[in-house]
Amino acid sequence: MLVDVHNHVIPEPVLQLAAKDTRVGFSVEDGVWRGQHHVPFSLAATFTDPAAKLNDLEARGMWGAVISPAPVLFGYDRTGEVAVAMCAATNQGMADFCDYAPDRYHWLANLPMQDPGDAAGMYAEAVRAGAVGAAIGTSVAGRRLDEPEFEVFWAQADAIGKPVLIHPAFNSPNPALGRWYLQNAIGNPLETTITVERFVCAGLMERFPQVRLVLVHGGGFLPYQAGRLVHARSVRGELADTPANAWDAFDRLYRCTSRGNPAGSTKSPAWTCGSIRCSLLIPTLRSSSSSSRSKCSVVTS
Ligand SMILES: [Zn+2]
Repeated sequence: MLVDVHNHVIPEPVLQLAAKDTRVGFSVEDGVWRGQHHVPFSLAATFTDPAAKLNDLEARGMWGAVISPAPVLFGYDRTGEVAVAMCAATNQGMADFCDYAPDRYHWLANLPMQDPGDAAGMYAEAVRAGAVGAAIGTSVAGRRLDEPEFEVFWAQADAIGKPVLIHPAFNSPNPALGRWYLQNAIGNPLETTITVERFVCAGLMERFPQVRLVLVHGGGFLPYQAGRLVHARSVRGELADTPANAWDAFDRLYRCTSRGNPAGSTKSPAWTCGSIRCSLLIPTLRSSSSSSRSKCSVVTS
């Protein structure tokens, strides 16, 4: 059984919110999304219509999906009031979306990370409403998630114990990535690598032992280059106060295994998707049956 854990939606309630409140910062006209933080794109039916998404999943050999907000819905550079409204609308929309097929759809909460205390509270609310985890950006409009102000969020994530999907967003500027869409092709996996290596160095994974992270795009460059961090720790004093072995964190890092557009997918390359070892996530899902769990298997690595 394949479950797509990197599968975005832009549900109706947040579209309605954007239509009546320009502070949300995007619009949809003639089926085209326009706003900050992304080039315009066609709002495919799979973003809003659960039936269309099931058809798409089945066409790609998938049984279900753990849906998450498209990163354009993170809203981390909005005011707190607008961000909370965006997250509330997105979460309500995802809950409604999943009601279409509760055994095949599950959702990850959108959270107002610019206020970590609000994010922690909203995460608990979302879990009570059925969320099976959270989806957050790699940075919060320039603030790094390992900074002390985010401890309150990670403490909540640790207490909740459900997977947190980390998705590239608000990438650090890099002039060399300015052409050829390299900010996406290279910048996105780079952001994931930066974020998780900083988590390791900051001791975040040690302080919060129940935190498990789902990393998109194959985990960025982390699986390929983590050995460099381990080596640097062994020879450089700058890392003296970091965990002795970065590999210790790896049993709580789960990678979405697709790093590009799967053959036959109707998705555009900008919205890559992937499958994961569903056995890692299914036990946390809200309504998966024991028979569903027994069908899980390692599908790729
Ligand atoms: Zn994505």
